[in-house]
Amino acid sequence: MTTVCPHCGWPDDQPFHVVSRHGTGTGSTVWVRCACGSVQLREIGPAGTRILSRGRPDPDAPRERCGA
Ligand SMILES: [Zn+2]
Repeated sequence: MTTVCPHCGWPDDQPFHVVSRHGTGTGSTVWVRCACGSVQLREIGPAGTRILSRGRPDPDAPRERCGA
């Protein structure tokens, strides 16, 4: 299964920039920023990677902002 960013077409299996990673009971939760500035929340578990939510592109956002 290969998906791409609906905003810029970046392949989801090649994270542009991993913002942060948190361990959970079943795997980990990862925030990824796309090349277009869209921030994704991913859940990585035994069944693979799932994208829980995806933000809008934000070309003007400072790099340190976390999609809030
Ligand atoms: Zn994108």
